[in-house]
Amino acid sequence: MIGSIRHWLTGERTPVEFDEAWRPLLQRNFQHWNLLTPNELQRMEMLVAGFFHRTRWEAANGFSLTDGIKVMIAAQASMLLLGLDLDEYPQLTSVIVHPSTMRLHGEYSAGGSLRTSGTQSLLGQAHYQGPVVLSWNAARRGAQFPDFGENVVYHEFAHRLDMLDGVNDGTPPLDDESARQRWIEVCTTAYDVVRAEGSPVLRPYAGTNPAEFFAVATEVFFNRPVALDEHEPALYAELRGFYHQDPAARRRLLTPLDARQDPTS
Ligand SMILES: [Zn+2]
Repeated sequence: MIGSIRHWLTGERTPVEFDEAWRPLLQRNFQHWNLLTPNELQRMEMLVAGFFHRTRWEAANGFSLTDGIKVMIAAQASMLLLGLDLDEYPQLTSVIVHPSTMRLHGEYSAGGSLRTSGTQSLLGQAHYQGPVVLSWNAARRGAQFPDFGENVVYHEFAHRLDMLDGVNDGTPPLDDESARQRWIEVCTTAYDVVRAEGSPVLRPYAGTNPAEFFAVATEVFFNRPVALDEHEPALYAELRGFYHQDPAARRRLLTPLDARQDPTS
């Protein structure tokens, strides 16, 4: 558990109920849900209920939100909190859901200090001490098809964890200074490789800046954990230590017994 994160919590809350009807919906549409142990599911149900009931939800672009959509987003956002000593995202003012890709017009950041203007397509956005904006199409895809490695909900909520210490710099609050130094060293090495030669697991967007690196790495950590562990074991270990979860172990347990045994024995 991450003691250093705890003080961002805002105090005791009245308990809220997890609706039994959400369970089959999550089992059907959120692949990762089916890999969790009974103990993990118990905590997830508490987190999902809290996120569902305490979040201020807003629909954008004429969209209308259903409970099913909220539950699917709540469950993915809660996945990042599962192993943390944190039951909610502090200072999250609202979650704004668009039906599909958003198109923004005007001037925007193109990474680092670069700014550019024109039309930008966005799947999501995380604002410091403000809302998280998501495309429902992308959120649904990320939950149903983890093998593509992309997940806009993990991405934007990883930014929120990164921002807990006030800076969106790819380094979330860690236990102590030596953990922080090791994190920076491992992430910087992997980030430099992505920028110089690309990566078989981390898409090029990870090379935009260290904050995007952490958000993209989080997507892959949960959605393609075995591949990340194989290609970037040091990075995988840092993320496993931060999130207090081992998604690669969950996936490996899924491998059918006969595929793990020597066929000649
Ligand atoms: Zn991002």
